Amino acid sequence: MDYSRICEVYTALEGTSKGLEKTDILARFLGEIRSNPEFIYLLRGKLFADYDNRELGVSHQLIIKAISRAAGISEAKVVDEFKELGDLGSVAEKVLGGKKKQKGLFEERLSVEKVLENLRKLPELEGKGTVDLKIGYVVDLLHSASAAEAKYVVRTVLGDLKVGVGTGILRDAIVMYCFEPKDLEDKKVCVKAVQEAYDKATDMREVFERACSNELEKIKLLPGKPLKVMLFPKAKDVEDAFRIVGRPAAFEYKYDGFRVMVNKAESGEVKIFTRALENVTKQFPEIVEYVESHVRGENFILDCEAVGFDAKTGEYTDFQAISQRIRRKYGISEMRQELPVELVVFDVVYLDGNSLIETAFKERRKTVERIVREEDKKIVLAKQIVTSDSDEVERFYDEALDDNQEGLMGKRLDAPYKPGARIGHAVKLKPEDADFDLVITGAEWGTGKRAGWLTSFDIACRESEVEGKLLSIGKVSTGLKELQDEGLSFGEMTDILEKLVLKVEGRHVNVKPEVIISVQFQNVQRSPTNLSGFALRFPRILRLRPDRGVGDIATVGEVEKEAGS
Ligand code: AMP
Repeated sequence: MDYSRICEVYTALEGTSKGLEKTDILARFLGEIRSNPEFIYLLRGKLFADYDNRELGVSHQLIIKAISRAAGISEAKVVDEFKELGDLGSVAEKVLGGKKKQKGLFEERLSVEKVLENLRKLPELEGKGTVDLKIGYVVDLLHSASAAEAKYVVRTVLGDLKVGVGTGILRDAIVMYCFEPKDLEDKKVCVKAVQEAYDKATDMREVFERACSNELEKIKLLPGKPLKVMLFPKAKDVEDAFRIVGRPAAFEYKYDGFRVMVNKAESGEVKIFTRALENVTKQFPEIVEYVESHVRGENFILDCEAVGFDAKTGEYTDFQAISQRIRRKYGISEMRQELPVELVVFDVVYLDGNSLIETAFKERRKTVERIVREEDKKIVLAKQIVTSDSDEVERFYDEALDDNQEGLMGKRLDAPYKPGARIGHAVKLKPEDADFDLVITGAEWGTGKRAGWLTSFDIACRESEVEGKLLSIGKVSTGLKELQDEGLSFGEMTDILEKLVLKVEGRHVNVKPEVIISVQFQNVQRSPTNLSGFALRFPRILRLRPDRGVGDIATVGEVEKEAGS
């Protein structure tokens, strides 16, 4: 297929901000790629399935070089254009467009296959001397690209297509194309089925193929491949928890660590994924060891919390203490000594060739008890009571807080496991803390003694649980420290965000929405100036959440609830 065809679709998508129109454009196009289902990745500017963590590793700097080389102009000129247009895709379109006119139109046409082939080579290239090779693959594409094609090649490489298509819209397009629902009710059923299939597969190609052949139910869990985790709404108090999950119910410590799905694949290899589907196996060698030596089973998927503890006193620490381990690529063994983690297992969703997602929670818990050999400070089961007695739960709640944990989880005994869903099979119960996880979408350079740092951050929540659209909720500029050793600093945040800059406008930058932060606030107010319709009063950055992705941030519904409470 000509790449120009997919670029026409991108242009049409860019031309409308309406979700329904986008769905329509995509649904029609899906028919054209039915025999090439993997092209579906490109519609969200991706090259691989969502569970696949391969990264292209191409910076803005590298793209500037590639554009300069392809267009035969200086890098300084490309940078000037970038300052003016604020998007390297548009820069490529402009400078290569001019070039093409002079050269005539004799180049070979660019195909989608060729774009995929070249860009998929990029993650394989690592280490010294590979920069030139990477530039080479991109330049090769730019040489045979038209102006519009160059724009989208560059945006795809940078991981930001700017056509406003998230998982939700693509899912709806699959529903529309494959099932042609008769009415709203029918549509709802299909959307649910496709979403559930996606949460299991985390691969749009597989979902698309199965939906086309009406075999969504054939999508199976596979240990070794990340899966969307089940999510939990909040309960107001113990009675509210019982009301949601039924009586009697299981109550467990809510540990203050970070969620990990520990997989033992059919090959026997242990792999660890965060709830944002990131593979963190290398960062946590001790978890691999404990699982290999303490869990019985040929293959499995365990849902767990990794909790930090003080190596000297043995006391549990908070999430902040171990959060740096998640992104750490070097010095792993020292980190392991300094900031050890204990694996707390609270669920199992797959064991020895069988999916357990339809099995009742109480049975799954029994299975966990059967296969995990506990050893303190290595691998343990979540502390649990099963009761109908509210007083007993209150006492357990106090005990959890005394033990430095966040509160309790209340769990329905006969509930199945629902990947990716927040439907109240379990609830969280913690003291009112009024903070939200939000994503940074932009920032502003400071002045005076804070010059050289990004000091004010634009934050956004999500439109809904399934829709990827981000809605602004204001700015936050307090909570960070000026000195490195006092906690999360402006310098550190600047280093992280600088790599994600998409657009520069004076002192303001737009960044790729990847950095998740917990933001504390006093209360929520209505605000017509923010897209979400809300603003946080006295917002303050509490911490980075490197274990989370955009799919984990607060939804506008949750914000609204807070405004009403
Ligand atoms: P929150 O992060 O506030 O949405 O709370 C949900 C998170 O609590 C889950 O994603 C887990 O990471 C964590 N958690 C801690 N202990 C448990 C437990 N016993 N069962 C389930 N989740 C737990």
